[in-house]
Amino acid sequence: MRIESAEVIVTSPGRNFVTLRITTSDGRSGLGDATLNGRELSVAAYLSEHVVPLLKGRDAARIEDTWQYLYRGAYWRRGPVTMAAIAAVDMALWDIKAKAAGMPLYQLLGGASRTGALAYGHASGRDVPELLDSIRAHIEEGYRAIRVQTGVPGLDSVYGVAASAAGGGERYDYEPARRTALPVEESWDTRAYLRHIPGVFEAVRAEFGPELPLLHDGHHRMTPIQAAKLGKALEPYDLFWLEDATPGEDQAALRLIRQHTTTPLAIGEVFNSAHDYTVLLRERLIDYVRSAVTHTGGVTAMKKLLDMAAHYGVKSGMHGPTDISPVGMAAALHLDLAIHNFGIQEYMRHSPRTLEVFRTSYTFEDGLLHPSDTPGLGVELDDEAAAAHPYEPAYLPVNRLTDGTVHDW
Ligand SMILES: [Mg+2]
Repeated sequence: MRIESAEVIVTSPGRNFVTLRITTSDGRSGLGDATLNGRELSVAAYLSEHVVPLLKGRDAARIEDTWQYLYRGAYWRRGPVTMAAIAAVDMALWDIKAKAAGMPLYQLLGGASRTGALAYGHASGRDVPELLDSIRAHIEEGYRAIRVQTGVPGLDSVYGVAASAAGGGERYDYEPARRTALPVEESWDTRAYLRHIPGVFEAVRAEFGPELPLLHDGHHRMTPIQAAKLGKALEPYDLFWLEDATPGEDQAALRLIRQHTTTPLAIGEVFNSAHDYTVLLRERLIDYVRSAVTHTGGVTAMKKLLDMAAHYGVKSGMHGPTDISPVGMAAALHLDLAIHNFGIQEYMRHSPRTLEVFRTSYTFEDGLLHPSDTPGLGVELDDEAAAAHPYEPAYLPVNRLTDGTVHDW
């Protein structure tokens, strides 16, 4: 089973996706997700210029060897572009191997450890009444765990808060990257945010009671001492996790937060290697690993990372917004089902346009996701539908403090 060809498909059904399709000499094909939101073409070029020429003629069954060949062989290691490209090759080869075996991928990873993966949805509102309506709507859709984000008085637009559902078009939480020549600029005031958020959670608990798991994303915007203060203030509301409290590259920041609060901590969506977690795991500074299969070198690398986390009692909480393509989402779901230390899975439904291009088989029922028993990853790409949606430049927003200083978005 030799690799005969590999093609990079860039498509934009509502938002941009980069997909790798590998085809073997016996006519099988596999898909991998290489989408890096706002920097998509850099991964597409890395794949087509530097990786595809290396794949032709290789044994498609040798997944570990191919991973090491691409990782060690490049000499220049890690980084989001490299690791997304390697992830796409790795996912596609696992897809092919599982199809050849006639099994869903999770069977090759050890089989199911649970009946389904608990998913959390994204509720948001510009104010508290709108937020409470959004939480109710998510519960009606079947979600059993909810991420809570709200507008902050005095700030025009805030990360994670959906644009008006009545405003037409797709909601903000489908895609924060805007199709504009320059990134949209948002404004931010951490002190206003810190004053506002505890009251929001008080209102949510008063309305929905103590049982509903609630999550919150700080989106890397606080200093360590600000995050410690927020974690402490939120303790009465029993969060499932506080996510991305401080900038991701500063592992030591989590140490300070941990000294001050028992609110569980999650981080890692901007990480791309198990090496980003060594301090966090060894010192038990986090509770959940937020990496995406797509940005961390694929199924092979993610499985090793999660196994390492398991030895420290740390669970998975894989990244799953809509900038993870349905292919990357399916890869996450197979891991979610197979690993022992599963925590929760982020889940936003892809738009109907996206699902016309990517034909999925995974299911969401009673709050649980399941990758389905379709052999392989269980996702196929419709080339004709993909070609109808050519790439469109899009950028994630840039954030500024109210005095104009660039801040973490
Ligand atoms: Mg986050």
